[in-house]
Amino acid sequence: MELKLTNIGVIKDLFERHGFSFSKTLGQNFLINPAVCPQIAEQGGCKGDVCALEIGTGVGVLTRELAERCKKVCAVEIDERLKPILAETLADLENTEVVFADVLKIDLKKLLEEKFGGEKVVVCANLPYYITSPVIMAVLESRLPIESMTVMVQKEAADRICAATGTRACGALSYAVSYYSVPKTLFKVNRGSFMPAPNVDSAVIRLDVRKEKILPENEEKTLFKIIRAGFSQRRKQLLNPLSAELGITKTQAAEFLESVGAKPTARAEELTLSDYIELEKKIKGSL
Ligand code: SAM
Repeated sequence: MELKLTNIGVIKDLFERHGFSFSKTLGQNFLINPAVCPQIAEQGGCKGDVCALEIGTGVGVLTRELAERCKKVCAVEIDERLKPILAETLADLENTEVVFADVLKIDLKKLLEEKFGGEKVVVCANLPYYITSPVIMAVLESRLPIESMTVMVQKEAADRICAATGTRACGALSYAVSYYSVPKTLFKVNRGSFMPAPNVDSAVIRLDVRKEKILPENEEKTLFKIIRAGFSQRRKQLLNPLSAELGITKTQAAEFLESVGAKPTARAEELTLSDYIELEKKIKGSL
């Protein structure tokens, strides 16, 4: 008989039999809209020989959709209370393994190497909201050998992450994401698609990871130091935080800005990623 993990009755029965209750602190809002997980798997590139890394299984609703389409699935879940539930809901899947660990503490590079060797890998997840940015950054910064990352995040986070750099909606995270990947919002998901329903709507985004390196590693550090400095006081003219955080004079900061074609009165979000990359090249010798 088909296991309907989006059915509220089925979920409640699993919880009752295993004495499980939702943990708010772990961001446990499970998907109950049956249309969403198949779309995440399909638009996330799960097919043929592709392997999937999932972050946060819940009762395994997305895990099953990934397993149906991928060669192999490895899922990382922090909550060991889900062990007996997953042993039941994923029992028939021979290509799927759950590793119980904190995704922010586990060595993901080693895990991918152990579980998938050199296979093509995608990351798919309905991310726990409290760690959205750290998880995205940990995956991108560690340059995991993955094709893409398709994740459900809060709608506001999706808007910010996918905002074009150099526009008002962008933030420091938009630059970091754009540096490592090409971000795109795939579709919106309303709050009623989850149990329990969160207070905000969500969206699924896909980050297609760039294969080429734009800057050498030491210069990447300088680039992000400059961007972080700029956004530390985003309401002020950029030359003020640049001067304060980087230990250069305001006159120098204004000259550097002009040298990349930016106004000395510009604010942090008025520069594009390419502008910051140019700025890094000019400033690096002075730091
Ligand atoms: N994939 C399931 C779904 O769509 O219904 C569950 C999604 S729920 C939003 C997030 C899941 O991530 C929960 O199962 C939670 O226990 C797990 N989680 C929370 N923090 C985690 C962490 N640091 N490492 C790994 N998993 C985590």
